[in-house]
Amino acid sequence: MHQLRWHALLQQWVVVTTARQNRPQMPANWCPFDPGSGHVPDHYDVYLYPNDFPAFAPDSDPFNPDPHPALFAETGPRGACDVVLYSPEHTLPPSALSLQNWGKVVDLWTERTRQHAANPDIALVAVFENCGEAVGVTMPHPHGQIYAMPFIPPTVQRELAASRQFAESNNGANLFERLFEEEVKAGVRIVAQNSDFVAFVPYAARFPAEIWIFGRRPTRTLLEFTEAERKSLAEIISVIRKKYDNLYGFLMPLMMAVKQAPLRQPEAVYRFHVQFLPLQRSPTKLKYLATIETGYGTFLADTAPEQMADNLRRSEPATGPYSGS
Ligand SMILES: [Zn+2]
Repeated sequence: MHQLRWHALLQQWVVVTTARQNRPQMPANWCPFDPGSGHVPDHYDVYLYPNDFPAFAPDSDPFNPDPHPALFAETGPRGACDVVLYSPEHTLPPSALSLQNWGKVVDLWTERTRQHAANPDIALVAVFENCGEAVGVTMPHPHGQIYAMPFIPPTVQRELAASRQFAESNNGANLFERLFEEEVKAGVRIVAQNSDFVAFVPYAARFPAEIWIFGRRPTRTLLEFTEAERKSLAEIISVIRKKYDNLYGFLMPLMMAVKQAPLRQPEAVYRFHVQFLPLQRSPTKLKYLATIETGYGTFLADTAPEQMADNLRRSEPATGPYSGS
């Protein structure tokens, strides 16, 4: 079974894909992403590998839902899912990835987004990474993923609705731009910056050591970046990943979401940004998404975002402090 089912209470699609249950147990000491496995080229720097058990697939039924779904409604999950291999080195943590390879990863994200932008089936390209066993990743091989989704996922819909409401009640002002301006003005939560990007702990961080990266120049998708900006993005991601793994002295379990505007809503107010959502709340404790977070959508943070920003600035490579403008 492979279909999207409508969650009538939350008004969102759930991907039901039973084949994922049957994912084979990999033989010990064997990795399909390693050169010589027969599944990837014998030589590569970065590589796009089609997901063997995709949640969204090009040969799935088209996404063609009833505009007013019934209580029990379903449709097809047509889209695409790829794995992005960051390096041929099996045990290399992303924090040890060379700047050059991060640059190639960003270029690959951009190229795949460009391909999906030409496909009318795709509404949004979600670039992301799950990292660490606490996030359910048992494969150490450094990799991320790209989901080409046939609908705009609910979190992005909420962000779009918030920016519409903000514009309506603030003479057309852009919520993303105003938030970013205020963070730069405050300065206290900035963790790192370069010529094109600023990384900060957001004012209302939900996750421990959460960081957002915003471009200084407002853009909607990866497709708008210049070559120099893509290099800058790779540079600041590399700095943040090093800081994370140096914060507690081990691989930080985290989720990384590279968030882009919907491909087919040029009027929608959105701004490209990267969100890091780590799950380690102290050297020995994990943050679990438990009932209050998952059942009630309310996050509890046990470190002040300003304090966390300070901890992250001190983590190597040390940066800042930054005074507000
Ligand atoms: Zn491997």
